[in-house]
Amino acid sequence: METMEKGRLSVHTENILPVIKKWLYSEKEIFIRELVSNAHDAIEKVRKVSLTEEVYQSEDEEYAIDLKLDRENGILIIEDNGIGMTSDEVKNYIASIAFSGAEKFAEKYLKEGDNGIIGHFGLGFYSCFMVSKKVEIESRSFQPDAEPVRWISDGGEEYEIGPGQRSKRGTEIKLHLNDEDAAEFTDLARVSELVRRYLDFLSVPIRIDGAQVNRQKPLWTQTPASLKKEDYAEFYKYMFPHQGEPLFHIHLNVDHPFRLQGILYFPRLAHEMDLNKSNVKIYCQQVFVTDQAQELIPQFLTVLQGVIDLPELPLNVSRSYIQNEPVVRKIASHIIKKVADRLVQECKSNREEYEKIWNEIAPFVKYGMLSDERFYDQAKDALLLEVLGSEGPNKLVTVEEYLAESKDPEGKKVHYVSDLQTQGQALRMLQKQGIEVVHLGTMIDSHFTGFLEVKRGDVKFVRVDSEIHEHALESDSGIVDEANKDIKSRLQDLFKEALENDKVTIRPEALKTDEIPAMILLPEHLRRMAEMSALWGEKENPFASEHTLLLNTRNPLIQKLGSPGILGSDGSADSKKKRVARQVYHLSRLAQGAASPADMEKYAQEIFSLLQDMV
Ligand code: ADP
Repeated sequence: METMEKGRLSVHTENILPVIKKWLYSEKEIFIRELVSNAHDAIEKVRKVSLTEEVYQSEDEEYAIDLKLDRENGILIIEDNGIGMTSDEVKNYIASIAFSGAEKFAEKYLKEGDNGIIGHFGLGFYSCFMVSKKVEIESRSFQPDAEPVRWISDGGEEYEIGPGQRSKRGTEIKLHLNDEDAAEFTDLARVSELVRRYLDFLSVPIRIDGAQVNRQKPLWTQTPASLKKEDYAEFYKYMFPHQGEPLFHIHLNVDHPFRLQGILYFPRLAHEMDLNKSNVKIYCQQVFVTDQAQELIPQFLTVLQGVIDLPELPLNVSRSYIQNEPVVRKIASHIIKKVADRLVQECKSNREEYEKIWNEIAPFVKYGMLSDERFYDQAKDALLLEVLGSEGPNKLVTVEEYLAESKDPEGKKVHYVSDLQTQGQALRMLQKQGIEVVHLGTMIDSHFTGFLEVKRGDVKFVRVDSEIHEHALESDSGIVDEANKDIKSRLQDLFKEALENDKVTIRPEALKTDEIPAMILLPEHLRRMAEMSALWGEKENPFASEHTLLLNTRNPLIQKLGSPGILGSDGSADSKKKRVARQVYHLSRLAQGAASPADMEKYAQEIFSLLQDMV
């Protein structure tokens, strides 16, 4: 039997191209980003070198990158007046470094298979072979006595190199585009769009057929002190047109332990947050990389809009790499902290302005706190509750401020209303007693209140209709009021018989107000369990039907119902009172929005027959 030989998969340039073409097909436009970035780097290099060395100068002094579109011949030229390359440099940098980068790409592809590599693989110079059948380089180095060089390649293993024609300093890269790519990449509108998308903020003018297309002002690299509010507003408008004014911004500027610069804006949020859409654009040294920032920053922050520039992050690698990179986690926690700090600072030192935007940023803040405890810990002082004004306007208070005003002896309860219509009665009853009620009306609030209770440990959220506040009750005089006791027990009997429902607890009480005849109370914990099971999609839940019917013994109607002599001659409650009692219950259910369509049909029928008996 022959022995097996161990072998290595070797990757050669000849088989790289199909791989690259296959995997980067949808992103082949990035070759423009890569080549123009190289041109920009070359200009930055010559700028530096010229400070200490003699540099060969051409006539045109202004540093610039020129793209020339030759539609007829399917040629795209990218030219710079940067540092240029000598013949040896072309051999070393282009022919070996660029190609070895491509080899690494292919090796990695062969190792990781389909999932390993998605986008953003730095192919540098080599990426131009995704769209070109032939590439020519003409370059002249900055050294005064350098000889121009010419290099030609079709992306295969062999290339030609020899003396060139170029008289100016810098490099011209001439792409003979593939037939299928020629139309796209010689199209002025398309190429302009690409330059604006990827290269808008490069510090060197980028011209297409002589006209500059990039904007050149990366606001984030400037110091915050040198910028005015209008500068940020204008920049926002430029980056995110048609979105109105942002609420406020945060300028990020970090040097250590990694470099990061950026500006994040709090946008005006629509009613529902679109959390899948990322609005944060990631740049690497002013070159746009991606707006799929989910790997880099926590998801809840992607509702913010803005730019983040990470000059050192190796973005040109696969996503799995990015996710496992420790620096990425540090970046995320840094951004979280900055955003939280800013919110707290605004809330503390700029309270009036902060209150104006609170309702708009509240869903974001709450969602952020729910999804990341670090954010809760750092931003908790920026949390506001909206206290409903009984006469005047609503006011915004922190949890501490609310508790300080609390009439609850333990100082723990936060009374809230989630729906102004169905809980309006209970709300007004508390407000009359001077008890502050908070409005928590959004979807996220029911989770958020539970979360806050656990995190803080010193608050309890109670919905206005979950219990009867002792301040709303007529205070006990201490003397046993026989008459009151009797009416209570008569009401118990009447309603028990009338409703025939052991899920309903009858609770007659003397309220301070006589206006309200009755109302439904849903104990907080039962209601929460019901909400939970509804959330899990359970149709029947055992908690939903348990509730308390509060009867106000100070209300004239209830007093009549509870008056003596309700028992008929046969000893049962008289049927008229029973029918009215049922309506009292039904109306309370309706007022609370707790009646199902089937209930409502039943209620209506009973009302109609009652009315029929009256005429
Ligand atoms: P990277 O830019 O990641 O180093 P590239 O494949 O894009 O890799 O380029 C390889 C090298 O070729 C560069 O590092 C640079 O030295 C050289 N090079 C590429 N384009 C130019 C240019 N326009 N002017 C001068 N040198 C260049």
